[in-house]
Amino acid sequence: MRYSRQTRFKPIGETGQTRLTNSKVLVVGAGALGTVVLNHLVRAGVGFIRIVDRDYIELSNLQRQMLYDEDDVARALPKALAAKEKLQKMNSTIKIEAIVSHVSPGNIGDLIADVDLVIDGTDNFATRYVLNDACFQKGIPFSYGGVVSARGMTALFRPGHTCCLRCMIKDTAGSNETCDMVGVISPAVDIVGSIQSTDALKLLTGNTDQIKQALTTFDMWSNQNMHINFPQPNPDCPTCQLQQYPALHMHDMQETVLCGRDTVQIHHYDSMDLKFWDQRLKSVAQTQLTPFILKAHVSDDVHFTIFPDGRVLVQGTEDIAKARTLYDRYIGS
Ligand SMILES: [Zn+2]
Repeated sequence: MRYSRQTRFKPIGETGQTRLTNSKVLVVGAGALGTVVLNHLVRAGVGFIRIVDRDYIELSNLQRQMLYDEDDVARALPKALAAKEKLQKMNSTIKIEAIVSHVSPGNIGDLIADVDLVIDGTDNFATRYVLNDACFQKGIPFSYGGVVSARGMTALFRPGHTCCLRCMIKDTAGSNETCDMVGVISPAVDIVGSIQSTDALKLLTGNTDQIKQALTTFDMWSNQNMHINFPQPNPDCPTCQLQQYPALHMHDMQETVLCGRDTVQIHHYDSMDLKFWDQRLKSVAQTQLTPFILKAHVSDDVHFTIFPDGRVLVQGTEDIAKARTLYDRYIGS
């Protein structure tokens, strides 16, 4: 009964539904796009979904990240865990795995090893290229999605059938506008996430001939939309042609500027015991400890958010040197 309206839709039918039950999908990022995609795929009955997200929920997320509410903000829950909690109530018959982590060349191999599709819900090209390269190395389809202001774009890349993200988007230099800087409206997110979800349903139910071989782009505010057909793969593409997968060979940087968020992420050398650090920082900072994160306000304009996996967000600066100084002063290496 649960899926009766979906199985009555002829291109899916009972056969397609069984295929969905047997499918495994990785969704990277449980923010704006990720929550739209997760909502659709969980309700549709995809049998196994792995969610990876590095962040926790903040008030400014609620305008567009549809799985979260004010209670989640108050609890400062990591997005992956809050998403799993909500999604499992929508559909208890599927398996959902939540991982609070930063996706990197070091862990992407394990994260994608057993999945049929990888869906991009990230907000940066560094991570997208890691996903693109890992997917083409392993022969796994990759759904790309991006939204900023009222504009969105999306495409489903399939190793062996289409070019890859690198061939399609050669120059990302002009794309460094972020939602944090120029904003984003929620309906634009819904559309990209819904196209990604529809592509997922087509792919997982075996309706691959219905998948558009193009990059779909639109601007909701100026009422424009466009399909840019996939080019032939670039013969020099280091990913889909030369099989070098450069993004997988980049060393994880210890410091990363989270663009437009006034934040620098620093990797501690080891995992971090939040209770220990709460005790230690209490004398110099106002702390807030949850089972999942520790926040420490060291001054009016700077605070740390510490994750058990060893990541420290220094919030209040985009200057790596300044962040490193604060980190060394309060946490130390
Ligand atoms: Zn390529």
